[in-house]
Amino acid sequence: MKRDADCIFCKIVAGEIPSQKVFETDTVFAFLDIAPVKPGHTLVIPKEHFATLLEMDAALAGPMHEAVQKIAAAAMEATGAKGFNLQVNTHKVAGQLVPHVHYHIIPRHEDDGLSLWAQSPYDSDAAMQEVADKMRATITK
Ligand code: AMP
Ligand code: ZN
Repeated sequence: MKRDADCIFCKIVAGEIPSQKVFETDTVFAFLDIAPVKPGHTLVIPKEHFATLLEMDAALAGPMHEAVQKIAAAAMEATGAKGFNLQVNTHKVAGQLVPHVHYHIIPRHEDDGLSLWAQSPYDSDAAMQEVADKMRATITK
């Protein structure tokens, strides 16, 4: 299993840095975020070190997803939340500070003051078409 000697989340998995662990399997580890957006904010990580979602072994997607389902239900139950957001910040520009892939589970309540990103339509259908064409040409099977 790959490990990065300088990685804070690898150290948490190894028990070298304390955490409020809420769930663990042979491949997945989950613990409370130390600076939560809301109480119950949980980080789900593969035990193996992958810098971002793009490098993560796709075979781990199933175990990660199963963990999210269990932990999100538990976080809602524990905090009385009515829903949650699942977020994976990828690369610095998207707000990723820790380079060990992690899924944020953020419990949500009515009128909790959080908002999602602002959206707006494309300038034209052609502009939308152009982006879709470029993506279709790039995506590999
Ligand atoms: P991101 O900005 O997506 O990389 O998120 C990194 C998250 O890790 C932040 O929400 C931090 O609050 C959280 N974090 C950093 N160090 C620790 C730690 N030692 N224990 C728990 N959470 C941490
Ligand atoms: Zn790591």
